[in-house]
Amino acid sequence: VQTRNQALGLLYEFQHAAATPLHVLRQIAEHMTIEMTAGLMTEGKSNLLMLPTFVENLPDGSEEGLFYALDLGGTNFRVLRCLLGGLEGRVLKQEYEEVPIPKSLMLGTSEELFDFIAKRLVDFVNREGEEYRAKNRRQQTVREIGLTFSFPVKQTSVKSGILIQWSKGFKIADGVGADVVALLQSAINRQHGPKIEVAVLVNDTVGTLAGGRYWNDDVMVGMILGTGTNACYVERDLPSHAPSRTGEMVINMEWGGFWSSHLPRTYADEQLDNESVNPGQAGYEKMIGGMYLGEIVRRVLLRMAREAALFGDQGVPSKMTVPFSLVTPEMSKMHADESGDLRVVAKILRDVFGIQKTELPSRRIVHDVCDIVTMRSARLAAAGIVGILKKIGGDSWDTSGQSGQLKTINRNSRVATSTKLATGRIVVAMDGGLYEHYTQYRIYMQAAVNELLSEATAKRLVIQLSKDGSGIGATILAACHSNYR
Ligand code: ADP
Ligand code: MG
Repeated sequence: VQTRNQALGLLYEFQHAAATPLHVLRQIAEHMTIEMTAGLMTEGKSNLLMLPTFVENLPDGSEEGLFYALDLGGTNFRVLRCLLGGLEGRVLKQEYEEVPIPKSLMLGTSEELFDFIAKRLVDFVNREGEEYRAKNRRQQTVREIGLTFSFPVKQTSVKSGILIQWSKGFKIADGVGADVVALLQSAINRQHGPKIEVAVLVNDTVGTLAGGRYWNDDVMVGMILGTGTNACYVERDLPSHAPSRTGEMVINMEWGGFWSSHLPRTYADEQLDNESVNPGQAGYEKMIGGMYLGEIVRRVLLRMAREAALFGDQGVPSKMTVPFSLVTPEMSKMHADESGDLRVVAKILRDVFGIQKTELPSRRIVHDVCDIVTMRSARLAAAGIVGILKKIGGDSWDTSGQSGQLKTINRNSRVATSTKLATGRIVVAMDGGLYEHYTQYRIYMQAAVNELLSEATAKRLVIQLSKDGSGIGATILAACHSNYR
C-alpha cells in the first residue's frame, strides 16, 4: 500500500505537469498565431520555418492522365499510381504499395536511402497494368511523379528544394544542403529503368491539402498526425520572398519545431529530448508525434518502477529500460482497453516488458499514464489548429474569453477581407496513422477544439480524415505541375 501511494503520488505529479487547461491552450494558440506571422515575414525570426512551397495552384478536379507519387514519411514509404479522369471521371483507378523503411537506411547515407527508394519505384512502374495505359502517348513513355518528402525542405521552386535537416529519428550523415529532387533523379537514373521525371516536390502536409482540395473547395489546411506532426495552409498575406501570381501560396509551417514556454513540459520530455538525435529541436513534435507518445509513457512507468516499485517485487523490468521499446500502437491498445480487469494492459505489459504478473491498481496507473500523454498530445494539436484559424480567418476565430458570441470581424485586417474565411467553413484535411488509428485521440482533439471555439464557430471547422491524402495529393499535384501541359 505504501508503494502504491508513492506510485499514485508520481502519477499526480506527472498529471499536473502535463496538464493542458483551457487557458494554457488559449495561450498556445495565440503564441502559434504570433510565431506564424514572425516566421513568415522574417526568415530566422521564429522557430516556425514557415516555408514557401511555391504551390500557388491547387487542384480543382479537372486534372487528367496517369501520374505517380512517391511518399517518403517517417516510418513507411509508399509508391502510388493514379489514373485521373477529369471532373467527370475523377480518380478512375489507383494502386499503391507500402514498405517499412529499414532502420539501417535511417542511419546510413542518402545514396543508400535514395537507391532503395528508386529501386522500389522502378519495380512498381515496371508492373504497371494495361488498365493504367494512359490515353496520352507521351505519358506512355515518360512517367511523371510527385515526390512527397516529409522533412523540412527549403524549396527553390515547385520542382526543387534543399534539405534543411533530417528529423523523426533519421540520422543520415549527408544530404543536408542537397537538392532532394536531384538526389532522387540520379538514383532513378542509376536504375536504368523506364523514363521517370519528378514534376513536383511537396511536403506530406501539402500533398494532404491538395488531396483534400481536389474534392472540396473549403480545404484550407493540410495536417499530419503520424510519426511526427506538421501542418500547412493557404496564405494570402504573402511576404516578398514568396511571390505568387494567383495571390495565394501554400505555406509549410514545419510546426513540429514550434516552441512556447506555455507548453507543459515534464521530466519525461526533458529526458527524451536530451537523449534524442536532435536535442533542443522539434519540441512541439516531441510532445505530439506518434514516434514519441509510447516513449514518454515508458519513461514515466520506468520512474514509477524505480522509485515506487510499481510492479512490486519484480523490480525494474530490464526491457523497460530500453528506449522506444513501447511503441505508440501498443500504447493505444492499452488505452483502448475497456475490460474491467484491464486484461489488454496486462497482456501488453507482459509482451512488451516481460512483466509476468501485474495487479489491477498498477494496471490502472499504467492506463492513466497513457490517457494523460494522449490527451496532452491531442489538445496541443487542437490549439495549433486554432492558431492557424486565427491567422487565416482573422478575429472571427478568436473566441477567447467569450461565451458563444462571435466577435465583430476586423474589416481593416487584410486577412479578414476574404469573407469566406471570416464567416464560412474551413476544412482541415488530416492524414497520419496516429489520427487514423487512435479513436480516443480523435475524441480528445475534437473536444479541445470545441472548448477553444464557441459553439457556432466550432461548427465552421471540419477536421476530415484524408486517408493516404499525402500520396494521392502528390499524384494530383504532379498533374497540376506537369512538364508537358
Ligand atoms: P508516417 O508519419 O511515417 O508517414 P503514418 O502516417 O503511417 O506514417 O503514421 C505512422 C505512425 O502512426 C506510427 O509511427 C505510429 O506512431 C502511429 N500509429 C500507427 N498505428 C497506430 C495505432 N493503432 N495507434 C496509435 N498510433 C498509431
Ligand atoms: Mg506520411
